[in-house]
Amino acid sequence: MVGKKKLSIDLVIPVYNEAEVIGHTHTRLLSAITNLNRELCIIYVNDGSTDNTLHVLEELSTKDKRVKILSLSRNFGHQAALTAGMDAATGEAVITLDGDGQHPPEMIPQMIDLLEQGYDIVQTQRMDEAVPASFKKWASATFYRLMNILSGTQVVPGSADFRALSRDAVNALKSMPEYHRFLRGMVSWIGYKSVILPYQPADRILGQTKYSFRKRLRLAMDAIFSFSLVPLYIGISLGALMICLALLEMLYVLSFWVTGQTSNLAPGWSSLMFVVLIVGGLLMAMVGFIGIYVGFIFQEVKRRPVYLIKKGEHNEGG
Ligand code: UDP
Ligand code: MG
Repeated sequence: MVGKKKLSIDLVIPVYNEAEVIGHTHTRLLSAITNLNRELCIIYVNDGSTDNTLHVLEELSTKDKRVKILSLSRNFGHQAALTAGMDAATGEAVITLDGDGQHPPEMIPQMIDLLEQGYDIVQTQRMDEAVPASFKKWASATFYRLMNILSGTQVVPGSADFRALSRDAVNALKSMPEYHRFLRGMVSWIGYKSVILPYQPADRILGQTKYSFRKRLRLAMDAIFSFSLVPLYIGISLGALMICLALLEMLYVLSFWVTGQTSNLAPGWSSLMFVVLIVGGLLMAMVGFIGIYVGFIFQEVKRRPVYLIKKGEHNEGG
């Protein structure tokens, strides 16, 4: 057996207008990683902050050479900021966490330990049983249920953008250049050896959520529409249903003819009904066919890799 290797680590922390809280987060982070004893880099991604965030970050980086700042040209959103940070990371492992103290940095050593045991993805899961019922909690639970029904990619309910990734997993994510990004889904899509680590969410130390209702809704739409083609296939299913109804109606009308009760049929009803159902069905089916082509085009333009290789397996055998 080879001795446990010590991975070099990059921490990626996206921040948007977090000037008041970033100092607290940083101090807590430093004490959590103080005994780690390995090559480490802290990448703060300033997502177009309009407050004092950049200034605070610059102070942190003059005091500590391990702190790097990546400033985006405007506010691109949390998922884009995380992507920028992961693209800039060069370490053998990358850990992403929020800058508002809601993701406990005390878990980092355990996450690294799991990576060093051979896991590629250490995904954390928010345990919010203790959190009182609220609209946000209900919306989150409903979203994950819908997402998991509609798409072939299963996402753990309550999974957060607080995770540790091996270099292989980071490279796999980097091979997915899609514009609408839902990292929790993408991380599940790439596969690899993963483990789930539950945590109790803490309250934000200071400041307010930077995720407006609009931003949250957009993330949910990105997630559903970039991981599911089901909405596009509704047309073809409705078309098939209407054509079936037309056939049923035909049988129904025929039954009157067979039993000689045609006088009970209102004049014009049969033909009118048939035309309505068949034309409606054909139109729906045509829309459905277009939907299928649009779905194919959508999958092509995302340029996701057709497969990913789990590196290292051959080496171990040989
Ligand atoms: N964030 C960001 N860009 C945005 C919105 C949020 O970089 O457009 C950062 C934010 O500074 C924080 C993290 O993403 O570090 C999570 O955001 P927040 O805590 O506001 O979300 P919540 O915890 O309320 O879901
Ligand atoms: Mg937060």
